[in-house]
Amino acid sequence: MGKAYHPECFTCAVCHRPLQGEPFIVDQNNLPHCVADYHRNVVALSLSRLMTLAVSHWMAMFCARSAT
Ligand SMILES: [Zn+2]
Repeated sequence: MGKAYHPECFTCAVCHRPLQGEPFIVDQNNLPHCVADYHRNVVALSLSRLMTLAVSHWMAMFCARSAT
């Protein structure tokens, strides 16, 4: 078994707030951030398209693992 993410253990990498059911953004290191911390840490709007791709990839990975 590889690393598994439990929804209840799924927290912001910065403030450790639970992100289940909350909007979140994943950074270049695949670390989930709440929206407030993401905007605090990443202010380069030119990265927004890359971030959207990363979120899609990360969510697919998360959903696949939580389904098993
Ligand atoms: Zn946070």
